Amino acid sequence: MLDSGKIVRARLKGKLRLEELKLTNPVSVGDRVTIGNSDDDESIVIHEIEERKNKIIRQSPRKKRFYHIIAANIDQAFIIASITMPKTKVGFISRVLIALEYYDISTTVVFNKVDLYQKKEAAMLAWLREDLETIGYKTMLTSASNGEGIVELEKEMKDKINVVTGPSGVGKSTLLNQLNPALELRTGDVSSYNEKGQHTTPFSRMHKLPKGGFVIDTPGIKEYGLANIDAYELSFYFPEMKPLINECQFNNCQHVNEPKCAVRAALSNGEIAEWRYRNYLLIREELLIENKPYL
Ligand code: GDP
Ligand code: ZN
Repeated sequence: MLDSGKIVRARLKGKLRLEELKLTNPVSVGDRVTIGNSDDDESIVIHEIEERKNKIIRQSPRKKRFYHIIAANIDQAFIIASITMPKTKVGFISRVLIALEYYDISTTVVFNKVDLYQKKEAAMLAWLREDLETIGYKTMLTSASNGEGIVELEKEMKDKINVVTGPSGVGKSTLLNQLNPALELRTGDVSSYNEKGQHTTPFSRMHKLPKGGFVIDTPGIKEYGLANIDAYELSFYFPEMKPLINECQFNNCQHVNEPKCAVRAALSNGEIAEWRYRNYLLIREELLIENKPYL
């Protein structure tokens, strides 16, 4: 065994390559491994990969039946959002939350750029936070410009493996630089994004936090997660809908226009937020089309 925190170059033991899933990368960011010296020379060999408590996977774009592990053993995720400059769409937040529910990763929504919020933004922030917290998601406020909330965010992340995601421009790189000035990530830079505003590289990187713990900058969580979800089971990934599903009259209720639907009953008495239900319908439609390319 080597001291943790040391960076070593290691290679895989041959038989590890055989796994239950067809993977393009047998070892991923976040994996816990057992290493030792090779029998024939001084090089370091990975003997064993510990069972992963969770993993973010995506289908290999080239080999359809193969999967690529983006990150493993994640303790929690942070969605970086903003009410302004640019305003994060609630649909974006819902989509990422669905993906993270799929991967079974607990999530905090961080509203950055609070230094810019005026009365109108403060009002939107108030109802959005309330709705998210009622569902069970934590929320936090930060300003990467004036440092507000950074200490609290640092505390939340301490000693954990954290995944951070967010739409372009919300200040994710600036925040990560605040958490670890040694990172020196480029900010205000759009060159690494393609036309759809997504990172062009699928690789994730894990950075050490000076106060303990790690942060993984993972582009694409939303796409990878949604690609695995069937439209018919979408409500399962809405924590506020999940406990109601068995109370609908029809056991295959899609909560669209069926009679005696417990989800729509909860919507009309205000227990489910309207924007969440609208996001449900919209994302469901998208999944129905995406999963049936022949239509
Ligand atoms: P990313 O695309 O999410 O990584 O965003 P960047 O970190 O590159 O930030 C985009 C722009 O927003 C840059 O011009 C930053 O200086 C600015 N920015 C980031 N955080 C804040 C903040 O909390 N308040 C204000 N006013 N500007 C910020
Ligand atoms: Zn229903």
